[in-house]
Amino acid sequence: MSLILSRRDLNFLLYEWLQVEQLTRIGRYADHSRETFDAALDTCEKIATELFAPHNKKSDQQEPHFDGDAVAILPEVTAALDAFCGAGLMAAGQDYELGGMQLPLVVEKAGFAYFKAANIGTSAYPFLTIGNANLLVAHGTAAQIDTFVKPELDGRFFGTMCLSEPQAGSSLSDITTRANLEGDSPFGPQYRLRGNKMWISGGEHDLAENIVHLVLAKIPGPDGKLVPG
Ligand SMILES: Cc1cc2nc3c(=O)[nH]c(=O)nc-3n(C[C@H](O)[C@H](O)[C@H](O)COP(=O)(O)OP(=O)(O)OC[C@H]3O[C@@H](n4cnc5c(N)ncnc54)[C@H](O)[C@@H]3O)c2cc1C
Repeated sequence: MSLILSRRDLNFLLYEWLQVEQLTRIGRYADHSRETFDAALDTCEKIATELFAPHNKKSDQQEPHFDGDAVAILPEVTAALDAFCGAGLMAAGQDYELGGMQLPLVVEKAGFAYFKAANIGTSAYPFLTIGNANLLVAHGTAAQIDTFVKPELDGRFFGTMCLSEPQAGSSLSDITTRANLEGDSPFGPQYRLRGNKMWISGGEHDLAENIVHLVLAKIPGPDGKLVPG
């Protein structure tokens, strides 16, 4: 296996400097041990090295392209993502009730460093999905978690973050997309969106059954002025 990240450095950072084994004294992580942390890191290292790193250069040379009908992406990307999802890594840090492993965030992120080192492009699909799922777990309704998060954590749905607009990149307070309340839905309040987003990573593809878009918008206040929503 070619070296994409030094395990010796990672072990030093996790076990000697950060002393992550102490986390197993906390109830949430009581089922874990150095062995389970090592097993998760081994899995990440193996999948990243064998399935993510080899097509890193090829992905740059053959970028995804849209033919007006569908987005074509290298088959190696599908194989890599199937292995990532199949190993349960989408849910590595999530609660057991959501099918997760309850890995401490620091160990999860250390494992994910292998994927960033191996292939920043392909790893964007699951990492955006994990961010998307985390936001819904923190702020979504039970129905939204059931409908969107569970399939995301199974690897059946992927997710995006639709923040930037043609006139607003870093300056997100300048976004003009509006969300007008239309009424209730089984998921909670329902809004109609008006506006333009751009640069949305993973915004269209056939890698998953569905793509869950989280769209940043402003809600008009009673005076008609826009407030962040
Ligand atoms: C590969 C890629 C993927 C992306 N994926 C997504 C996505 O999935 N979803 C999404 O919403 N957006 C996405 N974006 C857009 C991204 O969020 C914006 O490009 C980013 O926020 C920067 O905005 P900008 O390009 O308009 O640059 P600007 O904001 O115009 O910045 C231009 C320059 O000004 C500097 N600058 C900006 N503000 C300040 C300040 N206050 N003080 C000092 N310097 C400043 C910046 O550092 C930069 O050098 C993606 C962009 C890229 C390149």
